[in-house]
Amino acid sequence: MTRVTSFWSSESVKKIYSDNSLDTVDIKALGREPDAQFMCAYCGHSVPSYNPNFGICPFCEQYAEQLESDLKRNKEAFAALTEISTNTTTQKYDDALDSFDRLIAIAKTPQNLYAKAIFHLYLSDYEYGKRDYQTPNGFMEENSNRIDAGNLHFSNAKALFFQAITLADKQMQGNPDPLLNYTKFLSQMQLRRMLDTKKTLAAINAISQEAPITKYANMLYYCMNNDKRADTYISKVTEIGIPNGFYYYASFLAEKKNLGEAKKILLKLLEKVDIHSAKKLLIGIERVQTIL
Ligand SMILES: [Zn+2]
Repeated sequence: MTRVTSFWSSESVKKIYSDNSLDTVDIKALGREPDAQFMCAYCGHSVPSYNPNFGICPFCEQYAEQLESDLKRNKEAFAALTEISTNTTTQKYDDALDSFDRLIAIAKTPQNLYAKAIFHLYLSDYEYGKRDYQTPNGFMEENSNRIDAGNLHFSNAKALFFQAITLADKQMQGNPDPLLNYTKFLSQMQLRRMLDTKKTLAAINAISQEAPITKYANMLYYCMNNDKRADTYISKVTEIGIPNGFYYYASFLAEKKNLGEAKKILLKLLEKVDIHSAKKLLIGIERVQTIL
């Protein structure tokens, strides 16, 4: 009789899992308060960082190196950023979208277009999340409206990602710029254009191996592809003090079915930094844990 060995329980796979346990990631940093608080110049989100010189926005993942006091110098743009935050907190989402448009009217950049696209994705999640299948038939129409609204936000986001790519190319005109390439890379990744993403990542790596966004972009790429090399880059990102790295660490562990450890890290992280994706992942893990 042929012995059937389950692929998932084979020793070789267990070895890969233990190699992927990311022993190199030091989570001690999460025990203390962030050293600096920047403000995202594209979505107004606060950007806590364990690095005193820069951070990566926990909402739109753009590079942030300006404090609130720096951004205040551009009064109009700062007013639009403040409005985005206030309107988001008070759930006046249409007004928040208008505030994004005001910011884009002041300076149309790939980063601004990208941040608005991410906000549309956030609203798309919000609409889908409000669906209710527990209520009687009369509410089906309401659910259908939610789905339509969610789909519309998703399409708007996609259109903006394409615009961000086109504008980044136009602004670079053959002169590679790390930040523009980074936004182009993020947009291509959101659109799941894997070949293009790989090419842009190569362009980012060619400019500088040591720049924070190079490390961050590599981490995103390998995490998304569930590639073993994610390990190295998650370590590099957390070492330079970017809290988002811990979210990716948790999502990588969750991917490897280590839900307990992933949840522990997310809870610690959320005590210090407000990361929408981390909250979503935590809810997902808790849902799976109740089923298991
Ligand atoms: Zn942002």
